[in-house]
Amino acid sequence: MFVARSLNEIVPALGGVCVPTMGAMHVGHAALIRAAVDVARAQRLAAGAVVTIFVNPAQFNERADFDRYPRDLDRDITFAADAGANCVFAPDVETVYPPDAPPTAPPLPQVAATPGLEDTYRPGHFEGVCKVVHRLFDLLKPAAAIFGEKDWQQLQAVKAMVADCHLPVEIVGCPTVRELTGLAASSRNRLLSDDDRARALAIPRALEAAAESAAPDHAQRIMRDMLTASDLTVEYAVVRDTQTLLPFVNARSALERPGRALIAARVGETGVRLIDNAPWGRIGP
Ligand code: AMP
Repeated sequence: MFVARSLNEIVPALGGVCVPTMGAMHVGHAALIRAAVDVARAQRLAAGAVVTIFVNPAQFNERADFDRYPRDLDRDITFAADAGANCVFAPDVETVYPPDAPPTAPPLPQVAATPGLEDTYRPGHFEGVCKVVHRLFDLLKPAAAIFGEKDWQQLQAVKAMVADCHLPVEIVGCPTVRELTGLAASSRNRLLSDDDRARALAIPRALEAAAESAAPDHAQRIMRDMLTASDLTVEYAVVRDTQTLLPFVNARSALERPGRALIAARVGETGVRLIDNAPWGRIGP
């Protein structure tokens, strides 16, 4: 495995399978890297799995969140190598966003701006995500890229951005990796106290409970009640169309299209923000 820090070092990484990350790697990232290795093998891509590590300032809408985001490049490089990566590309801000020739931002896909989800609580976040992904694809020319289902709206937004911009990159989703407790693995979990971590378990439990209800309104009420009972501050706890992320107009329409239950909630005194989601609904008469 080799590490590239600048543009003239990435040539052997061109045309591989890209795994964009912000570092602070955990078992979720390892699953993405292994998936990238498999796709690269299946498609006989010599560049293999190319992991990018870049804490993207453009996608943080709170300076404090950006500042406290965990960073440990040496550990991440070893971690990526152990998971099978062929290259780690860890550029600095000036390489990604050169001040003299700023990259053009792609138009924001509709699915990224659906009211009541991420864009409502993190305005500008998906502009930043689409901007950096578009730029990384432009630099690395990947044949495919892997994104986690844990960030479900992000996965839909990236797929839509790639389609809208006609980029020749296959976007592959990777199922959410969870700790044994059910909590979705996240770089932010390391900011949680033991108490916060116990409270945060209400998130996967609420998603499970919601799956038992056949009506979107009822499922949403169940989730909100369970989250607030565990002292979480709910940003959203909703059931939406799995692809467009628009609300179902009524209970009947929820039987015609697959749904997704999505949660964003803050936990603890410092308000660590956690998101999670799961399939919802049963299609049928
Ligand atoms: P991040 O470093 O948090 O920006 O995440 C980089 C990639 O890892 C994104 O595609 C995330 O969706 C994905 N990811 C993060 N956590 C998980 C997880 N628990 N399971 C699967 N993928 C994940």
